[in-house]
Amino acid sequence: MMIKSAEFVCSNTKMDKLPPPLLPEYAFIGRSNVGKSSLINAITQRKGLAKTSQTPGKTQLINHFLINKDWYLVDLPGYGYAKTSRDNRAEWGKFIKKYLFSRENLQCVFVLIDSRLKPQKIDLDFCYMLGDKGIPFILIFTKADKQSHLKSDQNIVLFHKALAQWFEEIPAHYLTSAENRLGCDDVLTLINDVNLK
Ligand code: GDP
Repeated sequence: MMIKSAEFVCSNTKMDKLPPPLLPEYAFIGRSNVGKSSLINAITQRKGLAKTSQTPGKTQLINHFLINKDWYLVDLPGYGYAKTSRDNRAEWGKFIKKYLFSRENLQCVFVLIDSRLKPQKIDLDFCYMLGDKGIPFILIFTKADKQSHLKSDQNIVLFHKALAQWFEEIPAHYLTSAENRLGCDDVLTLINDVNLK
């Protein structure tokens, strides 16, 4: 898929202010600092579209971007930042769950995972929650350029093994880098394929 246009639409903290659910929507989420903003910018080939975080965990907003006037790319607030207060985290949980569980035009959630790390409980728990609720999701391993592919692949295998205790079918995954756009076109192809269905 060629990106012909990518426009910021709105930032929200309230479900009732989201754009009408008239176009297919794809959400990106992951731990703060996982490289979500950088990857969104790499995928859309727009440098400043998503704001790369100076203060991780600060923005607790749902950001909608309209791509090719055809679908929404949704930037969800990152989870698990240590300096966020417990109250903030509880609010985050409520708000995000409300979005994930009720957004009718949500096609798929891309869960971003740092490819350099062994499986982290917080990411596994998040995947479990999605699976438990029957929300389709795809794993995106980030920052692949920071290490050898062998090392990334080892962590991916470990992540799959950890998920296998819950899921019969392991979700698809992509290995990506915002630095060299590895995997970015594959993600766009997948979105294109789902949109055409
Ligand atoms: P976010 O908090 O998940 O939105 O993460 P950011 O996109 O702000 O990235 C966090 C940090 O990781 C920044 O310093 C980025 O430059 C860096 N980063 C993000 N993605 C990549 C990547 O693919 N490769 C490398 N080398 N660095 C990355």
